Amino acid sequence: MTEPRASDGFSTRAIHDGQSFDPRTGAVIPPIFMTSTFVQDGIGGFRDGYEYSRGGNPSRDALQQQLASLEGGTHAFAFGSGLAAEDALLRAVLQPGDHVLMGNDVYGGTHRLVSQIHAKWGVEISTADASDLDAVLASIRPNTKVLWVETPSNPLMKVADIAGLVELGHAAGAIVVADNTFATPALQQPLALGADAVVHSTTKYIGGHSDLVGGAVVTADASLAESVGFQQFAVGAVNSPFDAWLTSRSLKTLAVRVERHCSNAQAVAEALVGHPAVSAVHYPGLPDHPQHALAARQMRGAAGPLFGGMVSIQLAGGVDAVHELVGRTRLFQLAESLGGIESLVCYPSEMTHASVKGTELAVPEDLLRLSVGLEEADDLIADLTQALDSLAT
Ligand SMILES: *Cc1c(COP(=O)(O)O)cnc(C)c1O
Repeated sequence: MTEPRASDGFSTRAIHDGQSFDPRTGAVIPPIFMTSTFVQDGIGGFRDGYEYSRGGNPSRDALQQQLASLEGGTHAFAFGSGLAAEDALLRAVLQPGDHVLMGNDVYGGTHRLVSQIHAKWGVEISTADASDLDAVLASIRPNTKVLWVETPSNPLMKVADIAGLVELGHAAGAIVVADNTFATPALQQPLALGADAVVHSTTKYIGGHSDLVGGAVVTADASLAESVGFQQFAVGAVNSPFDAWLTSRSLKTLAVRVERHCSNAQAVAEALVGHPAVSAVHYPGLPDHPQHALAARQMRGAAGPLFGGMVSIQLAGGVDAVHELVGRTRLFQLAESLGGIESLVCYPSEMTHASVKGTELAVPEDLLRLSVGLEEADDLIADLTQALDSLAT
């Protein structure tokens, strides 16, 4: 048995925590427990606590242990999507009359979840620029129960000071939730900065291969864990054992994948700066990014600062140029989602952020978001450059 040790580094924990070999056969990789129910040795005689797979399944437990370890939490809960995870967490903590304060460029679906679903049960929502602590402080209300931050933000790549927000949120009696989907625990561990819970769309970098949809909540707070665990059990938006297993498989290579996503994204961002068809490049790894210094402190790989795999660009030719460009790239395929091995281009205004059009979360119409994949950086740069060159002429 490869017993985990607290002193183990990130990738050692990613590969071994919750991932012991099968005791019966010695199979190095834990089997996938594709079962809905478990035979009891007499009524209530559960083997290892397993009764029914909505309540608990060994493949899901293995993933949850691995996720808790990587985020520095004590408990993790896996769900069938990122939004299902967010919903479970919010319903675990909110009561009618409570207020949720969100960053003003969070994932559109997160805003929609509260403004269109939870609002019906009397929950209030408002937004503030999470990269501006004064603006956040001014937006906190006496009934603010949750301060929700996503950093780097989507799609403008603004970086928020998690420790600073935790100070403000806790002083106001709110819990602070960090959506760590973009940075991943390989670069940023919000619980260590004081956040009460982390949420993930494991669909993205954690899954990493664009072949599953999933989500997770991680916390080090025992009473919050109890409430979220009850939601997971009583509402049942769990992932399948197969998806849990795939996610565990993917987590083992998270750090090496993220390092390569970051170096490719840095190269792409640097190559696009100054191109005549590009009016702005948003990437925290560029020295003139407004929160570059904060990002360098807050987002770190094993060997130093790393700034993530997402880059957004604005086009000088506006909406027309956007429509032309997405038809002219070969490697950057037009699709929603991010964080997979393959590079994708997305038009947030009509795709990921269509649900917030016309609200304070609306995004610029000349903006494209790039999920920089693991292909060769030179090929990616050549792909974008030829498409951009064709616009400029
Ligand atoms: C995709 C995404 C979500 C929602 O996750 P799903 O798995 O699509 O439900 C939440 N937050 C961020 C930052 C995302 O990118």
